[in-house]
Amino acid sequence: MNLDDYRYPKAGKVNLREISTEPETECDKEECMRRLESNILEIVEYQEKLYAAKREGLIIVLQAMDAGGKDSTIKKVTSGINPAGIDIADFKKPNSGDLEHDFLWRVNKMTPVRGKIAIYNRSYYEDVLAVQVHNLHLGFKMMPRVIANPEFFERRQRDIIHFEQYLFDESYRIVKIFLHISKDEQKRRFYERLEDPDKNWKFDPGDLVDRENWDKYQDIYEDIITNTATKNAPWYVIPADKKWYSRFVVSQIILDTLKMMDPQYPILDEEELEKFTMYKRLLDNEK
Ligand code: ATP
Ligand code: MG
Repeated sequence: MNLDDYRYPKAGKVNLREISTEPETECDKEECMRRLESNILEIVEYQEKLYAAKREGLIIVLQAMDAGGKDSTIKKVTSGINPAGIDIADFKKPNSGDLEHDFLWRVNKMTPVRGKIAIYNRSYYEDVLAVQVHNLHLGFKMMPRVIANPEFFERRQRDIIHFEQYLFDESYRIVKIFLHISKDEQKRRFYERLEDPDKNWKFDPGDLVDRENWDKYQDIYEDIITNTATKNAPWYVIPADKKWYSRFVVSQIILDTLKMMDPQYPILDEEELEKFTMYKRLLDNEK
């Protein structure tokens, strides 16, 4: 498995219909699951250094069609991480207060402090995705010059690129992951939610409406991924029909990004070290 195969930007437009949702053929399930576990252990170690250094924050954006496996991926890849060092942000439908502001307002509030890892379960990409699929912007309380602008979504995409560059310039790393499932696999997972009593709670009839718009979603995802993948904020399109594979690849992306960030425990200067000697002496001299 080579992460370069999944990373964008690449030359040309993303074509999701031509990208497999299945693991690479030579991939061995047992081996991937074993490597997932060892990646998690390494992520835990890097996260502790990241938290101690507090110089850079890492934002991982997770997007997928419904039942793409976002929640269970988050649960798996964050297992063992010190909860104090991680933020999970769910971006649900915006409430009326959110909608009274610019679309990045609620996003800004979720920016983690440097030293933390934040995982966005859906994100500001919904503001160019779900909003576009359902033409929600036509109902927004905004001036006609904004709503009627034929470049409404192109403009938002540009703002997203700038926003991500801004975060990068402010000492954050951003990685965006699309869990790519097939329409058949989604159907199978919906049946599971309908038939397994323990999964009934996950079924949302609204997901069936979005399923009807499958092709529209795929088209817009292609557009968004092509346009917003940048060197400093890349997209990864991960085959996600097999959860053991997508979780392994996500763990690899997080681990490789942390390795690139190379966080280090802060090193004390001489003056501070001298103080430490004094603190130790104070402790030694305690009665
Ligand atoms: P699952 O994958 O298990 O179905 P989910 O992420 O879909 O989980 P839900 O609570 O079912 O979680 O759905 C959240 C919904 O909110 C999605 O349909 C998404 O498109 C919608 N949403 C999120 N952000 C926005 C936004 N800015 N504008 C419009 N809709 C949004
Ligand atoms: Mg849903």
